[in-house]
Amino acid sequence: MFAAFPRFAVFRRLTQTAAFIVLTFGAAVCSLPFSAQAADQTPSSSQAKKNDADEPTSTEKAPPRRRVVLKAPLATLRKPADASPTPNAAPFSAPELNATAAPLDDARSDATDVVPTPPDAIDAASRTLFGREIADYRLQNGSGRYVFEEELGELLILESAWLETVEDAPEPELDALRSDLAERLRAEFGPGFETLSTERYLFVHNVSDAYVDWCARLFEKVADAFEKYAVKSKLPTTERVEPMVVVIFATQRQFFEYAARETPSPDKLAAYYNMRTNRVALYDLSGAESSRAVVADEDAEPERRRRAFQETKEFLSRPNAAFNVATIVHEASHQVAFNRGLFLRSGPLPFWAVEGLALTFETPNGRASQGGWNFTGSFPKNERQLVAFRRYASTTRQRDPLRSLVAAQNIGDARDDVEGFYAASWALFYYLYKRRPNELAAYLRETAAKPAFVAYPAADRIADFEKHFGDDWEKLTENLLRFVRRL
Ligand SMILES: [Zn+2]
Repeated sequence: MFAAFPRFAVFRRLTQTAAFIVLTFGAAVCSLPFSAQAADQTPSSSQAKKNDADEPTSTEKAPPRRRVVLKAPLATLRKPADASPTPNAAPFSAPELNATAAPLDDARSDATDVVPTPPDAIDAASRTLFGREIADYRLQNGSGRYVFEEELGELLILESAWLETVEDAPEPELDALRSDLAERLRAEFGPGFETLSTERYLFVHNVSDAYVDWCARLFEKVADAFEKYAVKSKLPTTERVEPMVVVIFATQRQFFEYAARETPSPDKLAAYYNMRTNRVALYDLSGAESSRAVVADEDAEPERRRRAFQETKEFLSRPNAAFNVATIVHEASHQVAFNRGLFLRSGPLPFWAVEGLALTFETPNGRASQGGWNFTGSFPKNERQLVAFRRYASTTRQRDPLRSLVAAQNIGDARDDVEGFYAASWALFYYLYKRRPNELAAYLRETAAKPAFVAYPAADRIADFEKHFGDDWEKLTENLLRFVRRL
């Protein structure tokens, strides 16, 4: 099953709608393994510090800000193979994903011209980049690489040989940074797109004011919830200075156009988070666009607003609303967890925990029937995942399902039951969150401390898990099943 979607780090099948919610590196997979080099080097800065698994919670400062001057514009430095037909492709290597890499051409759909192909998010002519140093793997002999997060969020691996200088840069003035980034996004997306800046986010969109406002409130609510949850659960977090970018398209078709550049099956997506670009992309699930076109006249602005507001309200009262809200919250929680340092975009990931957390977050609560989502200090059970897990637990042919889950590098290890794999990720995460929160926090602290791009083989995944939860998998399975029975 998963062979049809070869380049996804993880994905999940949704029974009802046949839509997919995805956490993806997009097309950013190259064939050059980075792991051997990384393993031999001591990372110089931000990666080296977080190593004490028993430290109490604290928020780390954001990685150091740098000004990088390249010897030539990035677009000309990237190898032809990396420049690729996919505009956003970077010379990127995630060893865990290489095994499932497919030719970039497979990612192209028969896209029409609804959304003109935007230029690279990073100005192709610019040689000067600002952002955060993620890891410095440059070698004395002039080889090696520099892992850098550009201030709009894209994760770049820069060859040492491309670099003219790397210098400290002062922390940005936030208002200026936001308006600068917003301008870049408007230039990238072109006419018809506007930006909305909120406390932690930058939305670029062509939807109604009502819909983007509603999304913005939801995203901020998820970020608030993450903050509270992290403090309460003593999880490691990192300060985030630059806004997180969210792209919202008016129509599903425009969304597919955009997603087709990054994923091979955009038509199966409802929303996704791309770990390389750091963006969540989605579309107006309320379907309000149709009437927007009817009332597009400038003079009709009040009418348009009234109608858009009305439609957002109607959207939330539809039977499927809770599901659509969960979809957005799921991706928003991926994004915030990565941006607050609980998981590292450049790091080896505990796949089950990445998905387990998002599936725990997405659970509708508040007035679920109206698509409400709130965090009131703890998460309710995820009914949909509970049903799927019960089915999985009684039908799986995996001999030692929990151990296999923890050892999994990505969704490719789900074999023929992707849905069951996701449900098990939720069940394990939810059980540990409820019953063994301190050990879970210590485990996550440990995985968050891995240096960028080191290999994380199955044996190490198991060892890290057993260090915190013991090696009696049978007992753990028993306890988990008992916990689930009582939910
Ligand atoms: Zn996910």
